[in-house]
Amino acid sequence: MKIERKSPIYDGKSKTIFETDHENFVIQYFKDDATAFNAQKKGTILNKGLLNNQMSSQIFQYLGKIGIPSHFINQISEREMLVKKLSIIPVEVVVRNQAAGSLCKRLGIEKGKILHPPLVEYFLKNDGLGDPLVGEGQIFYFKWATPVELEYMKTVSLRVNEALLPIFKELGLLLVDFKLEFGKTHDGELLLADEFTLDGCRLWDVKTGESMDKDRFRHDLGKVNETYEEVSNRLTQYLTSQK
Ligand code: C5P
Repeated sequence: MKIERKSPIYDGKSKTIFETDHENFVIQYFKDDATAFNAQKKGTILNKGLLNNQMSSQIFQYLGKIGIPSHFINQISEREMLVKKLSIIPVEVVVRNQAAGSLCKRLGIEKGKILHPPLVEYFLKNDGLGDPLVGEGQIFYFKWATPVELEYMKTVSLRVNEALLPIFKELGLLLVDFKLEFGKTHDGELLLADEFTLDGCRLWDVKTGESMDKDRFRHDLGKVNETYEEVSNRLTQYLTSQK
């Protein structure tokens, strides 16, 4: 089936969404633009769009194979992914295996503390407010998601964690935390959405503890695009060897 790209319907910080000639499909175009700290820091990471599209496509494909459906249909070019059109639930799910980032800042938890079982947190998807932490009470009260939807989002997020932890371990990387988004199709199916990339997860090198993710950009650690390339190469190599 040949799908034609039409006009952009949403221009985000790292992706643009285009409508297509099929009413239920849209195209996610991955950009090199990078932002951090609620867009106070801006820059570009060479080839990030291409590497993020590749990594996300590979991960969604893998998750699909093991029974975790998502909006992913297929990768249609270096920077474009065909996905199901969704209305995004405004709640981001963060799964944490070790303490880092905002958890340490917010609650004074020691960086690296092992969180077993993993901690699940919810954030309101609202740039203007800086994506604040929210609880189930607020999510249900303001109808951002129903209890059934949130339960599904939490269960799927924990399954994604279980599925990806051993893969990243094989790559010599600790999956410290990650953020997922979900959305509903026109006929009400709730699906894993958005992306799984180094922009939205933390990976620490098992041997050195070095950050191998967007924290390199956030904290000016250098070798930013090299890291995106390195992780993408390791993942591709690993997944190809498993076929
Ligand atoms: O900043 P914080 O520690 O809460 O981030 C937890 C995880 O969620 C990190 O992997 C971060 O990259 C991701 N995240 C994201 N988008 C946000 C907030 C966090 O991808 N708006």
